[in-house]
Amino acid sequence: MPSLSHYAARAGALSFRTSCWIDGRFVPSASGDSFVSINPATGAPLAEVAREAAEDIDRAVRSARAAFADGRWSRRTPGERKEVLIRLAALLRENLEEFALLDTLDMGKPISETVNVDVPGAAYFFQWHGEAIDKLYDEIAPTGGRDLAMIRRVPLGVIGAVVPWNFPLDMATWKLAPALATGNSVVLKPAEQSPLSALRLAELAAEAGLPDGVLNVVPGFGEDAGQALGRHADVDCLVFTGSTAIGKMFQRYAGESNMKQVWLETGGKSPNLIFADADLDKAADMAATGIFFNQGEVCSANSRLLVEESIAEEMVARMKARAEAIRPGDPLDPDTRMGAMVDSHHAGRVAEFIASGREDARLVTGGERLTLGGSDAFIEPTIFADVPRGAVIAREEIFGPVLAIQTFRDAEEAVAIANDSVYGLAASVWTRDLARALDVSDQLFAGTVSVNTVDALSAMTPFGGMKQSGFGRDLSMHSFDKYSALKTVWIKY
Ligand code: NAD
Ligand code: MN
Repeated sequence: MPSLSHYAARAGALSFRTSCWIDGRFVPSASGDSFVSINPATGAPLAEVAREAAEDIDRAVRSARAAFADGRWSRRTPGERKEVLIRLAALLRENLEEFALLDTLDMGKPISETVNVDVPGAAYFFQWHGEAIDKLYDEIAPTGGRDLAMIRRVPLGVIGAVVPWNFPLDMATWKLAPALATGNSVVLKPAEQSPLSALRLAELAAEAGLPDGVLNVVPGFGEDAGQALGRHADVDCLVFTGSTAIGKMFQRYAGESNMKQVWLETGGKSPNLIFADADLDKAADMAATGIFFNQGEVCSANSRLLVEESIAEEMVARMKARAEAIRPGDPLDPDTRMGAMVDSHHAGRVAEFIASGREDARLVTGGERLTLGGSDAFIEPTIFADVPRGAVIAREEIFGPVLAIQTFRDAEEAVAIANDSVYGLAASVWTRDLARALDVSDQLFAGTVSVNTVDALSAMTPFGGMKQSGFGRDLSMHSFDKYSALKTVWIKY
């Protein structure tokens, strides 16, 4: 990879898109209000961004509706939509470094991750959904007789998408790629902590040939812009990734407005179960990745490590060594493996969780909030052992680099502890015993169970949760279900 000085120079020369993108161009917010997006690694302001509210949301929804109604995208053939999405993927690859810098500067994650994971991932997901959409066949019901009953998949209309800051480009992409592929129009509200990549993406989509009005991007705060989208009477479907508490609000907004469909992908407290017969070295490596990747700001982070009693101390020692090998640092340095938390406020919340952990459990390593480069948004990789089941750090989503280690006697107890959570997003199981791996996987409440790895994820498999981790599924052919309705056209002849 290029050096720190290369990235620092490019970062200094970047220009940002800061207005809202409506009807194919950048326009100021109706109120003229703005907010400042911060670089959490320095605490310095990055850009002043238009602060959208209800009036702007309405303008964006009207633009999306008009585009949907006249068929400029919704009635293009799947093959034509495919071409545009594949061109967008190519443009993302051409502008890879710019997008990597936008997300790294805006939310503090290491440049090595945005360059190698986030941006190539977004390009791949646009391409994958584009390539898939003209391979989807509709159905004809087996009525027999002189009846022809066609079961068709049709786009819903206007989709509102509200996404979080932890993977700004990728979380937007996971919604946009299937929503656009199926022919919908979209109004996207990025998180206020990280609006910059979504605004640039809108411009790139237009360059790829997406007609005006099909994608609108409205930066703004949750309580005004997000709520206005959730309550808008002309939005057909609201897709959300974010916290469980806000997800519940979108269900309320829908019930109190037009009963729009709401698909939620929300929080997690994912367990990682390690049995004594596992490859312990590999398990420890991956357990560290599972909790420390992206500063622990991952919905499916393996934040609870459940280890069989006989190997408990050994695993604690291994995890301590892994954690201490990771030092938070400048996100623009290609050698940095852990960057800044998304902002100082969130770092403060993580620090409070750590303080509660000190009361309830044994601190193995870390635990400090650090000030680096003038910013106090850094948190040391932190591990607690002997964590009681009822402890706050064993139950609540921290969304930071904090691991809670617990022990179990046998598979039955492991499953009981693992399922003792309001969440059910992901889980991992480490064992060489295939029957046990399958039995335990069967019993875990989780959208994805990874065996002898963590966080297995691909475009080919659905991603989403059970229980209060939500019920929407992103990625895979199943993601198209959220963005389409089944319409029966029955002909008697
Ligand atoms: P958040 O819920 O605070 O915010 C998410 C989005 O909702 C943002 O765009 C925000 O502006 C908006 N919002 C906030 N308050 C709102 C309100 N009152 N009305 C309408 N919209 C509102 O979440 P966050 O802090 O940005 O992200 C972290 C959370 O996201 C974690 O809980 C994490 O688990 C979850 N997440 C889940 C997945 C998944 O696929 N399950 C993926 C990534 C993140
Ligand atoms: Mn920011």
